[in-house]
Amino acid sequence: MGSIVPLNIDLANAFVQPQPFEFKLDSAFFEALDQDEIQGGDVVVSGEARPRHDGMVEAVYHVKGNVQVSCDRCLDPMDFPVEVEDSTLIATEGQDEGTAEPDYVVSPRQREFDLAWAVYQAIELSLPLVRIHPEGQCNPEMLAYIQSDVTAADEDADDADEEDFE
Ligand SMILES: [Zn+2]
Repeated sequence: MGSIVPLNIDLANAFVQPQPFEFKLDSAFFEALDQDEIQGGDVVVSGEARPRHDGMVEAVYHVKGNVQVSCDRCLDPMDFPVEVEDSTLIATEGQDEGTAEPDYVVSPRQREFDLAWAVYQAIELSLPLVRIHPEGQCNPEMLAYIQSDVTAADEDADDADEEDFE
């Protein structure tokens, strides 16, 4: 799962001693990720990847900032504050089974680990399931447009759709 702003942590050294990190993510990060829930944002991810007694690496991080998602009603972007703590457990292949279930298992030769997807999921899970502007703050033009589109589609479904694409 690639990202143009890498959230690469120094995995090789994190198996030995704590590796602090801080990443600043902007809209380019969310646009490059293979997802369409979060359209943009500005967040700081700070934390530490550190060795555990069972031989795994645990990356713990704090994510703080703002993200933009579509309003479920009018589809306009809306800002949400984000503040979430999460952690990701990384084990190497062939490692003895510990008591905890790793989130990722990587090759022993892997020197770095990209936290992008784990951080994205932490942000996404922290957002409310229903994302709607407060009453009266939806885009009125968009609401009228959606309303008229629904009406047109009901009256003459096939023809209306074809014309829209030309
Ligand atoms: Zn809205």
